[in-house]
Parts: sequence; structure tokens; C-alpha cells
Amino acid sequence: MYANVLVQYGVKSLDHTFTYRIPDNLIGIVSVGVKVNVPFGKQNINGFVLSISNEVPLTEVKDIKDVVTKELKLNEEMLDLGKHIKELTLCSLISAYQTMLPTSMKVSNAKEDYNKYEVMVEIACSDDEINEFIFNNLKKAKKQVELLELIRENPVLKKDVNGSSLKKLIELGLVREVRNQVYRINYNSEIDSAYSLNEEQENAYKEIISHKDEEYIALLHGITGSGKTEVYMHLINEVIKDDKCAIMLVPEISLTTQIVERFYRRFGSDVAIFHSSLSDGEKYDEYKKIMNGEVHVVVGTRSAIFTPVKNLGIIIIDEEHSQTYKQDNNPRYHALDIAKWRCKYNNCPLVLGSATPSFETMARAKKNVYKFIPLNRRIGSSSLPDISIVDMSKEVRKRNMILSDELKISIMQCLEAHEQVMLLINRRGYSNIITCLSCGYTYKCPHCDISLTYHKTKNHLRCHYCGYTVIKSDICPNCQEKSIDDYGLGTEKVEEFVKTLYPSYSVVRMDTDTTSKKGSHERIIKDIEAHKYDIIIGTQMIAKGLDFPNVTLVGVVNADESLNLPDFRSGENTFNLLTQVSGRAGRGNLKGKVIIQTFNPENKTLNFVKNADYMGNYTYEMGVRHMLSYPPYCYLVLIRVSSKDYDILSTEANKVVQYLRRSLNESSKVLGPTTASPFKVNNVFRFQIIIKYKFDENIKPAIDFIDKEYAMNRDISVDIDINPLRI
Ligand code: ADP
Ligand code: ZN
Repeated sequence: MYANVLVQYGVKSLDHTFTYRIPDNLIGIVSVGVKVNVPFGKQNINGFVLSISNEVPLTEVKDIKDVVTKELKLNEEMLDLGKHIKELTLCSLISAYQTMLPTSMKVSNAKEDYNKYEVMVEIACSDDEINEFIFNNLKKAKKQVELLELIRENPVLKKDVNGSSLKKLIELGLVREVRNQVYRINYNSEIDSAYSLNEEQENAYKEIISHKDEEYIALLHGITGSGKTEVYMHLINEVIKDDKCAIMLVPEISLTTQIVERFYRRFGSDVAIFHSSLSDGEKYDEYKKIMNGEVHVVVGTRSAIFTPVKNLGIIIIDEEHSQTYKQDNNPRYHALDIAKWRCKYNNCPLVLGSATPSFETMARAKKNVYKFIPLNRRIGSSSLPDISIVDMSKEVRKRNMILSDELKISIMQCLEAHEQVMLLINRRGYSNIITCLSCGYTYKCPHCDISLTYHKTKNHLRCHYCGYTVIKSDICPNCQEKSIDDYGLGTEKVEEFVKTLYPSYSVVRMDTDTTSKKGSHERIIKDIEAHKYDIIIGTQMIAKGLDFPNVTLVGVVNADESLNLPDFRSGENTFNLLTQVSGRAGRGNLKGKVIIQTFNPENKTLNFVKNADYMGNYTYEMGVRHMLSYPPYCYLVLIRVSSKDYDILSTEANKVVQYLRRSLNESSKVLGPTTASPFKVNNVFRFQIIIKYKFDENIKPAIDFIDKEYAMNRDISVDIDINPLRI
């Protein structure tokens, strides 16, 4: 018997498969999808078995050495899915599998055993022997007797019991130690009963469940707080009854805490979680639970879409418009595409939920490619918050640089009523423009074409692209005057200001800087739920999906930040972000209020947000996209060409453009090369080329050619993003 093994080898991780003989001792153990260790040149490396055959190879082959991580293997669906990802993103097959797998399974990983063990003590003798020991030692060895009785009831953890008594009992052969594999994550919640659905929810549920055994995609367009999650849980419950499994995706790690809690309370130990801040060991455990069919429900972020559930019955993507569902490095897959493939493969429904669906999704729903299901009312007596827009140009004249009078007053009222405030500021750090008032010098990253961000808590300036940092000084490095000042707003500055303004209230900041430690998300969210904080300041991390019934006021400190981005999606994204964050206000019985601060009070997008008019924004923006021919009216491919050498870069980028223009259909447009933003990152210059097309069978071969042509080039790197979310 021979096996074809896919290994990762070489700089660009191109695909290599090699044939090995399966030695007699591994026949029956080596099967398709397992990870094996094979001799390769002078070393041994790992690879995946892609196929097995009886045909004797023409040349002499070596033997497989061993099977690695015996318990885990790629199943047939996963093996096929890898091929699909390769097609979708132009990546190599091996990097597709690497992306799909947790660290413990990755081919390059050699560690054998990720299991966590606990040493337990259990009974090792007959009942009679126990009774006899107890009878004879009741007085003499009371502690030993007590311990034996305890162990008789249930095996105990070795570390929890008295060492000397245990030693004695082991010596006498009455008990013994055993090593048990245990899971690192275990649910420990009480089970709640389900709510009965209201009429709208019931209709949505019935519609979807009537398609439970077919390939079917629904867009659940429900306003914030309309009870989408409750609908998901009812659907999943039904799927479980058929002994099928569900995958539920959420956009942010910060959201998994609350959702997982809700799922644990509903489904108990039937839930596994999967996201990037779990440790390798935790991921291994959860993966194993899923793979062995010990759970029916998986909740997690993007990578959870790859979990090998047995018998998939439904996939739900909550906040489906979120850009976090697309991986922003290679392979640039979108979880939605993977979900569609898996639902088709398994003949089951896919549910996309959002208050602000992406335009691509809405356009498909309008064409009945997806079933459109609306949820128009909030649960119970709660209604959408009142939204007002404040003109900051007037406030600045009153020297209100950060908070307007209206927002300050509302915050005070909210705090006095014992309710919580959330402030959104979509930039971390203290400020992003550090400049000398006397000579005009501004701090820029020496390696990137970008200004440095001041982080006051650490007193340094940092590049958010390459991580370069310098200590901040008050003296200008250019003119030596003591006149360095900072402009621009970040979460740290808002936090400092708010703390001085409301000294008797507690403030928490939630951004990537305060949540980098493991478990910090969970802690902050639990503390907000327990009302340990009155004011929550954060980046878009706080905007999505969180459910804090006591938050009644949301302030958007600077709405212009996201509006001014030079991207055709900025209107869509700003509407989504502000609608999402507004949806955090007034979710319980208390009425919510939202204040949006801007220098563009007449801006159309902001006024659509104010009127909670998703369709208005959609219609308006789609008009613009139609006129300028942007998605969803066409497809895009973004080709980013980069190099340390500007001249080589410029020549090659132009060559690529010329090649594309010659190879593609007349109707396709090739734009560029233009400088990317930022133009330089980590001393590497970047150009971009954009292809706009509708139907062009030459696209795939052309970009495939470009990709291969530059794969081995040391001077130039070419990065192809199909359907980019940012340009
Ligand atoms: P969404 O996901 O649409 O933002 P949620 O599912 O979080 O909304 O629901 C908002 C709140 O209403 C939650 O606290 C949830 O427990 C509650 N809820 C949802 N459906 C019902 C229902 N049918 N009856 C009572 N409460 C409900
Ligand atoms: Zn930099």
C-alpha cells in the first residue's frame, strides 16, 4: 500500500505531493486525511495523506515513519473544502489546509499530545475488602477510612486529597491512580428555558425551518434588539432534534462572551466555542469535541467556519455585513463563501442575520436569490433610541473640543439616573497628529508613509502599521523648541478627559490595547454587565451585538473619522457602524438616546442613521455605485504589487497592467497602477491595480498567471485579493 502525502516545503509553500510506502505496522492506521511523519531529504517532516493506492510506484519510495496526532484527521468534506479554497483564493492546497486547521493540527506542528490530563484516584478492590478495611480501622486510621469512603462514592482528584492517607491506601492496593484526559473548557451555567417567540420571530422561524433539509439561504433583516439571536436558538434546537449540528458565527471575540453564555444556558454542554484568543490546548479540546460528535453546536468567530462538525444541519452568520468575516491576509477567504459551500455540500440552510446587511447580500435578497425575512420591531416595550446630530463646528467655537454641551448634559443625566453610557471613538491611542507648533514638524514613521500615534499611558509614539515606537519628548527633534503639541482624538484622550469631567464615576476603555491579555474581554464585559463601570469608552469593538440592558446613552464622539475614508464603501460602513452602536442604547425597558457628533451635520449618511433608514441609505448608495460602476454592479480584483525597490516596482506594476489589458475582455477595466494607501509600509513601497469586471472568462487564467509568474520573484511580491472589502 502506498500513500500520496502533501507536504509544506519551500518559501512560497507551493504544493508538493510525494509517494511513500505504508509499512506493515501502519496499515489500517494510515488513512486518507491523517497527518504523517515522513523522511524528506536528510530530515523528517509532516504531511497530510491525500490518497492511498495499491499501485506500485515506478521509482523506489521511502516508508512513512509514523502517524502524528492520531486522534485528529481531515475528513472528506474538509479535504474537498481545501480544494475549493484554493480555487476561490488562488492559494496553494497546503496553505488552505493550514488555514482551516488549529495549531495542533497544522502540518508544520510536531508536538504530539495536546491533551490535558488530571490524575484521579479510584477504587482498586472489591466491596468486601473496602468494608473489611473500614471495620478494622475505624478508630486506628480515621482519616484513611474517610478518604476511602469518599473515593468509594466517586473517584476524586489526586491533588484535592490528603497525601499520606492516600499513599497508605495505594500501598494496601485498595485504591489506584488513573490518568484521565479532561477538557480545559467546561460549561458551568444553569439551563434556562427558551422564550416563546413573538409573531414576527415565529414567522421567521417557520419559514426557515420548513427548508431545513435543503440548500437554502435566508437573509434575516432584523433591527437591533428584534430578537434575532432568539430565532437562531430556536432553529438550532430543532436541528439538534434531528441529531444534526449547527455552526453559529459572530464577528468579534468580544461578542463571543455574551453569546456563548446565552448558548450555554440554553444548550448546556452541547456547545463548543472556537475563536482566536483560545490557547492552542483549548482549541485542540474544542476541535476534538466537535470532531468526535460530542457537541451539536459550535459558536465562534471566522475560523469556526472550518470546524469539522458531523452532519451539518444549519449555519448562521450573525452580523453578516461585518468585514471581520473576510481574512485580510492570505488566503483571503470570506467566511460567507465557505458557509455557502458547506451548506450546499450538506444540503442545509444558511441564515444571514443583520440589522444592516451588506449591499451585496441585500441586492441578492431583492432578486430572491436569498429569501428576505424582516423583523421590524424590538422585543417587548423597547423601541429604537432617539438619535440626534450635533454640529461640532459650533461647539469648537465654545472650546468644546471633545464633547459637546448636549452630550455632556446627557451623560450627566444618564449617570445620575444610575444608567450606563457608551462612547464610541474609532481610533485607539491618545492622538494621531503630533506636531511642532513652531516649525511645523510632524512625527512620521521612518519606515512607513504614515504618522505616528501617541500612546500617553506608555508615553510613546507608535506606528500602527509596523509597530515602530519612540519615546515622546516635549522638545522638537527638528528645531529643538519646546513646542510639541498633539491633535486628533483617540480612545485614551477621551478616557482622560471623561475621567476629569466625571471624577466620581468609573470609566473603562475597551480597545485592542486594553484587551490584548487573554481573558480581558470576558472580564471587562462581565464587569460592565455587573455595572462596575458607568462609562464605557471603546472602538468599533463595542459597537456590535453586545447586549447591556442598562446602557441608555450612546455618544459617537467623532463620526467623521469613518465617513472621510477614501473608499466607495465608506457610506455603507459608516451607516452600519453607527446603526450598530446606536443599537446598544435602550435595549432593556429604559428608553435609549444616541448623540452623534460631526463637522458635517448635513451629511446624507448621518441623516439616514438618524432616521433609522437602512433602505434609504441602500437606495442612495446603490444609485452612486450604479453610476460609478462599483460592486454589487460589478466585481473587483485588487492586485497589490510591492517591493523595496521603487524603480523595479514601477516597471513591474506597469508590465502587469499591460498584460492584463491585453488578456482581458474589452468590457473589463484595468485601473492603475496607483499608489496604495499607505504608500510605504515597513520600507516596502506599494502600488495597486484594480480590475473591474462583470462577465469575463479570462479573469481567472490571467490573475492565475500573474500569481504564478511572481510567486518565486524575490524583488517583487504580488498579492491578489478577489472581491476586496477595502481598496
Ligand atoms: P438581536 O439579536 O436582534 O439584537 P436579541 O436576540 O439579543 O436581539 O434580543 C434582545 C433581547 O430580547 C434579549 O435580551 C433577549 O433575551 C430578549 N428576547 C428575545 N426574544 C424574546 C422573546 N420572544 N420574548 C422575550 N424576550 C425576548
Ligand atoms: Zn511604521
